[in-house]
Amino acid sequence: MAIEHLIVLGIAIIIIAIGIRKARRVLKGSADGCDSGCCQSCGKNCPVKNLPNFSPQKSAPTPADTPPEPSPDNSPRHPPHLPLVALLLTTLAATLSGCISPSSPPLATRNHRSVLRNGVPVTVMLLDDNAYNRKYKLPGKMPQVTTITIHNTANDASARAERDYLNRRRDNKYISFHYAVDENGAIQIMRHDQHAWHAGDGRGNGNLKSIAIEICRSTCITHNAQLYTRAEENAVNLAAWLLKIHGLTTDDLRTHQDWSGKFCPHRILKEQRWQKFKQRVKKAMPL
Ligand SMILES: [Zn+2]
Repeated sequence: MAIEHLIVLGIAIIIIAIGIRKARRVLKGSADGCDSGCCQSCGKNCPVKNLPNFSPQKSAPTPADTPPEPSPDNSPRHPPHLPLVALLLTTLAATLSGCISPSSPPLATRNHRSVLRNGVPVTVMLLDDNAYNRKYKLPGKMPQVTTITIHNTANDASARAERDYLNRRRDNKYISFHYAVDENGAIQIMRHDQHAWHAGDGRGNGNLKSIAIEICRSTCITHNAQLYTRAEENAVNLAAWLLKIHGLTTDDLRTHQDWSGKFCPHRILKEQRWQKFKQRVKKAMPL
């Protein structure tokens, strides 16, 4: 079982135990909330009653305060259950507010937060963990990263659109990549320790040992050409950061074409700028 699962399980057990204690207290008629060390498990004085929006008097709304929820048999609600639920939720809030502090998960397992990488805003929006995605997009571990591979998307969509499209795909194709980059920054779609299906070389080093960057907007060549220009610049800086953190150099940059012959990244190849692209990455390498 993964450490994250153990942490979540542990927190759930603590929450349930605290909730049961509080429920017993309430059912005994105690109305003084939580001012005597509610979070004994962490040793901190964390009075639940001081949390925003918490009022012991209101923790058990009467049926008049709260419309009854529909129930299949229209049976009346039982007021003793309400304080139990309120206290469980309040205890959860106390937990989340820091009374119980699970160790932080690894960087890329947190979704939807942005960090700056070598000047590029990177938002972590990992693929949903479901059976389809695990089968077709998240094939397995990548213990070693030896190269960074550059692609062009060959359309005008944004990075977010690319990520969401990949996340939703159900066409039984084995396809995935780590980053999509557009004019506003990058979206990280997969963790660095998972390999993707992007290089077209089967179980070769392209798929199994390379981080894939898709540069978006690559068909923007007229009035919106600057979208691609900015996307490519973000990709230059992101690639430089990735090379740096994995102990690599610009000699370890690859095109999709290097792995399987596909004309990708089509925009850079067509404009014969691959060597120039590598020079820009070299200049952008963090110290
Ligand atoms: Zn490609």
